[in-house]
Amino acid sequence: MNSLLRALAVSTALAALPISVHAQDTAQPESAQPPQAATPQAATPQAATPTAWVEAAAAEAEQELIEFRRHIHQHPELGNQEEDTAAYVADHLRKLGFEVHTGIAGTGVVGILKGELDGPTVALRADMDALPVKEATGLPFASTQTGVFHGDEVPVSHACGHDAHTAMLMSAATVMAGHRDKIPGTVVFIFQPAEEGAADVDPFQPDAPSWGARKMVEEGVLERFGVEAIFGVHVMANAHTGQIEYKPGAALNSADGFRVRVEGRQAHGSMPWNGADAVVAGAHIITGMQTIVSRQVNLLQGMGVVTAGSVHAGTAGNIVPGELTMEGTLRSNAPEIRDTILEALPVMVENTAAAHKVTAEVNIAEAMPVTMNDAALTEAMVPALQRASYGKAREIPVNQPASEDFAFFAEKVPGLYVFLGVTPEDQELSEAASNHHPAFMVDETALITGVRSHVEFVLGYAGWKDEQ
Ligand SMILES: [Zn+2]
Ligand SMILES: [Zn+2]
Repeated sequence: MNSLLRALAVSTALAALPISVHAQDTAQPESAQPPQAATPQAATPQAATPTAWVEAAAAEAEQELIEFRRHIHQHPELGNQEEDTAAYVADHLRKLGFEVHTGIAGTGVVGILKGELDGPTVALRADMDALPVKEATGLPFASTQTGVFHGDEVPVSHACGHDAHTAMLMSAATVMAGHRDKIPGTVVFIFQPAEEGAADVDPFQPDAPSWGARKMVEEGVLERFGVEAIFGVHVMANAHTGQIEYKPGAALNSADGFRVRVEGRQAHGSMPWNGADAVVAGAHIITGMQTIVSRQVNLLQGMGVVTAGSVHAGTAGNIVPGELTMEGTLRSNAPEIRDTILEALPVMVENTAAAHKVTAEVNIAEAMPVTMNDAALTEAMVPALQRASYGKAREIPVNQPASEDFAFFAEKVPGLYVFLGVTPEDQELSEAASNHHPAFMVDETALITGVRSHVEFVLGYAGWKDEQ
């Protein structure tokens, strides 16, 4: 992942790492996806019907699917601590007769299924980790577990729906294992740890180790198993049950973190000329950072966001503070814009600081690239998505604002990451608790669509390759 590391200005401490951002830390209002912009349901009647054996086998596996999901939901584990979840997954895959590899990138599990038909090798990916969120769903199988997050014991729950992802992929394994005679090529089931970040690593620490998808990629998981293409599904509160949403190109924003420490000289509040005001300097730094997006990036390439979400300084109103710290996040849906922001930020911070006679230390934790769906692969898989969803797949006009470390896989091989709605049809999307919210809920009747999607990805990709 050296390509991710870049030289920053001298005083910039570079930590190659992520913060736990991820899919839905931002609720996307329904209005952000205007219905008129959606691709019409162009699917033919056949294309909107699941492959018959997939439909039947998924239906047969549905009870098991719900049991898996509830078990995992009730026993959530933070990033890099998914020991029990990994054992649960590995046990299931072994029972199915898969070749099983554990300890991949920490707690990751990989299962290999050899189909009886000739075909390509594709990977299906699910993430297994939960969040440091106290669950407030009121479900009978709600989490009461805790975990250790950056040294503190905290409540843990599956507030992003990774329990659903793991369960869907486990059941897809069941479905395909029962029909090897219909499976082309090799299917690599990747159960990934730490998508939301590692609970045991501060992303800003110097030489912080990698985790999650990045670590899997660095360990060579794709080459080791000969993966040609990779697929994934994320459950979303901002779409209705069973709706699949996809987008070629940028599907999710990049996400990087920054910390700035401004050091000036404390003084009496009545005599600022005797000091160097870290707050006034910090205020200019924050304003200056906003101009990176508005004045420096090429906005024809996409969008960018600079948010300083946490700022701390001072102890009393009559003291000029000598120190200020801030922390923030950087997002973009265009790799070029991301690069520009990452290069410009330290320059802006350090020079603005110098102009105010203070010093500033910048620390950037590079986390996740833009998740890019391969355009040709996306187009080729639309019929598979329509089959899986009974014609309820649609292209979304704008990418999701959050981020995903699936991006690291999709940098290496063609990838397609799609979204699956899990908010019941009779509920207003604007009223549904977003992913990462304590009350985030998954309508379990949506999950069978995810199972069918995984199987249809395998069949659809092999069919597409055959035509080429
Ligand atoms: Zn998340
Ligand atoms: Zn997620």
